Formats: sequence, C-alpha cells, structure tokens
Amino acid sequence: MKKIAILGSTGSIGTQTLEVVRANGDIQVLALSAGRNIRVLEEQIREFSPRLAAVWDKDAAMELAVKVADTDTKVISGMEGLMELARMEEVEILVTAIVGMIGIRPTMEAIKAGKDIALANKETLVTAGHLIMKMAKEYGVKILPVDSEHSAIFQCVHQEERKGIEKLLITASGGPFRGMKTKDLEKVTVEDALKHPNWAMGQKITIDSATLVNKGLEVMEAKWLFGMDIDHIQVVVQPKSIIHSMVEFKDGAVMAQLGTPDMKLPIQYALYYPQRRYLKGDRLDFTTLTQITFETPDMETFLGLPMALEAGRIGGSMPTVYNAANELAVALFLRKKIGFLDIYRIIRDAMDAHAVICEPLLEEILETEQKTYERINARW
Ligand code: NDP
Repeated sequence: MKKIAILGSTGSIGTQTLEVVRANGDIQVLALSAGRNIRVLEEQIREFSPRLAAVWDKDAAMELAVKVADTDTKVISGMEGLMELARMEEVEILVTAIVGMIGIRPTMEAIKAGKDIALANKETLVTAGHLIMKMAKEYGVKILPVDSEHSAIFQCVHQEERKGIEKLLITASGGPFRGMKTKDLEKVTVEDALKHPNWAMGQKITIDSATLVNKGLEVMEAKWLFGMDIDHIQVVVQPKSIIHSMVEFKDGAVMAQLGTPDMKLPIQYALYYPQRRYLKGDRLDFTTLTQITFETPDMETFLGLPMALEAGRIGGSMPTVYNAANELAVALFLRKKIGFLDIYRIIRDAMDAHAVICEPLLEEILETEQKTYERINARW
C-alpha cells in the first residue's frame, strides 16, 4: 500500500488524484486539505478516511470538525495545519495540488521530512526552485512532475541522458484567444477567458493559459526540474494538445510523449513512477489523427510569455515578482475589478519597480511577494 497526502484535494488536480486512487485501490490517503471548501472535503473524508484534514480557513476548519466529529479524522487549520500535514509520519508522497506560492513552505517541510513530492504546484518551483531543488538533493527525495508538459519531458528522458539534451520543446495549446490581437483582447471577459479549448482546470491556471503566463511559468519550472537554461527551452504552439512536450537531443533526435489530454496520466505516472499502470480512457487513433500542426507563439500579443522569459533570465527574486503580480492580477480579473490586458500592465509595472535580490532566501521570497502585493494594492 502506497501512502500519500494531498495538499489541495478539493481542486482540479486534487480530485483527479483521488480518481486515480479510487481506480487503483492500492494507495492509502493519509491526509487531505483544502482552502475553505469543506463541503467537498467532508465527502472526501467520508470516502477515504484520512487521519488528518487541514483547512486553511480557521472558521471553516472549526465547522468541519463538528461535521466530521463521528469520524477518526483530526481537523487542523492554517499554515501550521498545512505544515503538520506535510511532515506527517508514514506519508511517502506529498501531492502538491494547491494553487499559488502558499505551497512553498509545506513543500519544503515535506522535503525535510523525506517525502517524495508529486509536484503540480508550479508557483513553488518558479519562485523558490533554487532552494527546493537543492533541498531535494540534500534529503534524497524525488520531485516527480505532475504538470503534463513536464511529465512528458520526464517520460522522454532518463537521468543518465540529461547531459545529452540540446533543448526542451514545451508545447502550448495557445489558449482560448489564439489568433487574436491586442485590440481584440481589450474586450474579452472573464467568461471568455475561462473557456479553455482542451483542458478543464482550476480558474487561476485557466486564466494563466489565456494570457500565456502559464507557459511562462512552465518554462521557469522546466528550468529547475531539468537543470536547463531558459535559452534552451522553446515554446511551440500545438493547438490540439496531442503532443504534451518534446526533447531534442544533441544528435538531433527528438523524443515526444503523445496522448489524449487527460491529467490523470501524469498524476498516475508520478504516483507509481517508474511503473506504468492501466489507465481507463480514450486512446489516440492514428487512422483518424491526420494532422498535428505547429505554430510559433505570438509574443507581441500574449505578453505573459516574453515577460516570463525575461524574469527567468534575470533570475533571483524577479520570478517571484512576476508570479506574485500575476497571482494578484488574476484574482482581481476574476473579481472583474480589472480588464484582461491589465494583467500584463500589472506584471510589467511590478517587474520594472523591483530591485533584484540574487539567490533569495525563503524569507526574502515571501517579503518580495508581500511588497509586490502592497504595490499593486496601492495602485489598482
Ligand atoms: P484549483 O483551483 O482547482 O484547486 C486548488 C486547490 O488548492 C483547492 O483544493 C483549494 O481549496 C486549495 N487551496 C487554495 N488555497 C489554499 C490555501 N490557502 N490553503 C490550502 N489549500 C488551498 O487548482 P488546480 O487544481 O487547477 O491547480 C493546482 C496547481 O496545479 C496549480 O499550481 C496549477 O498551476 C497546477 N496545475 C494544474 C493543472 C490542471 O489541470 N488543473 C495542470 C498542471 C498544473 P478550495 O477548494 O477550498 O479552494
């Protein structure tokens, strides 16, 4: 029996992780967690009987504790709750399916406790990749990518082949606004931006896909996961999301991982790595799949990508500014306080105002996040 804990079990990746658990029947879920969605969390507690349930919101945690008083699940709350979940004894793999930089501290706590990490929470690596990858090496834990693009690359390369990599080719669907120009984007609404052509995901990542910020975050995530510099990572638009990413080797060979778009594949691969298991679902049919097309990303319109490449090249605390500005801007956009293009303006302004700290410590990363929020809150 493999023993896991999930940070963010009520979200898109969290619920799909539980689908994988349900389908396999040989994984024990020792802990679950949510921000404040205790309705779904209670259902999960009743089905999976975890020992711990961590809820960020303290009032929601108290309410949940009353509701599940008839079970053996202990309810904990706040950052201390997430940290307790992360270091919980017996857990072998922590699935980080939480959204945003809030995932950094629990991820580090889990690494220190020797847990392997099935990592979906890309914001953690983007902002603290230099600390996380060093710690993972020091504590001998695996960082197993869940993001479909990084899982694809992970499936294409074996440890000993990394020296032979020339470049990583990260594929992108282009999002719901592919083909549009800046003047068209002035008028798009939250509802338009939430219509992703191929994937059903949480709201934040869906908006990030529309701005191409998600692709930018993925480039920075790949930099840390595979030890590549930004200039050896190329984004290729492949609108149908059939090729999940590719690796070009020094001899010119290109390896790709293909499949129907289904996040359960990378989730299951991370949980059972290096084993492959049966996964129910549609298979690619090469008798009907007649065309796979490629485009270069439109970096003049979708500024999320070029600004990410800039932040990634500068490094240090700049990716934290890029990410924190985006997190707050997306929250404002979802609350209809700002327009779509304001997301880019907010990120640009925050990056321009920042004095970079090289190799920031955790405290400096969190302080940079806070200062970025303060600047945006004062202006927007
Ligand atoms: P969702 O918004 O669907 O889910 C986020 C989860 O995090 C929910 O369980 C939410 O709880 C929980 N959460 C939010 N804030 C807190 C908090 N302060 N404390 C504890 N829990 C919290 O996001 P996704 O599943 O889409 O994405 C999760 C991560 O995975 C992101 O980093 C995303 O970029 C990455 N990812 C997602 C993919 C996808 O297909 N969805 C693909 C690849 C990567 P609650 O329900 O209570 O709000």
